[in-house]
Amino acid sequence: MPLEPLLPLFHRLDRQYFDASLAALINPPLLLRWSDGRLSRTAGFYRFGPGISEIVLSRVVLVPLPPEATLSTLCHEMIHAWVDRVLGLKEVHGPQFKARMAHINQAQPGFQVSLRHSYPLPVQAAAWWASCSNCGKKIAYRRRRKGLACRSCCERHNAGVWDARFALKFSPNTVKQLG
Ligand SMILES: [Zn+2]
Ligand SMILES: [Zn+2]
Repeated sequence: MPLEPLLPLFHRLDRQYFDASLAALINPPLLLRWSDGRLSRTAGFYRFGPGISEIVLSRVVLVPLPPEATLSTLCHEMIHAWVDRVLGLKEVHGPQFKARMAHINQAQPGFQVSLRHSYPLPVQAAAWWASCSNCGKKIAYRRRRKGLACRSCCERHNAGVWDARFALKFSPNTVKQLG
């Protein structure tokens, strides 16, 4: 579907299948946006953490596809948000997710929500942030690593040689992401 505002689609699906509960969320509100141009590994994801609750849809993946792909992906991520925020459950593709998905699929013929988007690969959010205490730069890592230093600070201040002054400090990434 061409790049178009997602909010009207969101509000329609929210009213039809979630009793308008998602638009009513506060602290934080549920946000919705198209990705920048780089998200190509997945059609969309829902991410949440302290102060964050957001659905992101991939422009690169979805714009060339028929409109049903955007509806189905948006609806999938809305179910994640509903399970997380409205039901308050730590469930990924569990019983509540599947029941709501089946209900939506039976309720209309226009699009089908599936457990996995058929185009994307699974999303895995970085589990760690490494930050440089000198310049403040943060880099995402899947795994914790030892003995790393900030490359740009080593280059700028130490002729590219590793220096403990620029060692990266690892802290857990508290924002989770569901595909
Ligand atoms: Zn640095
Ligand atoms: Zn999912």
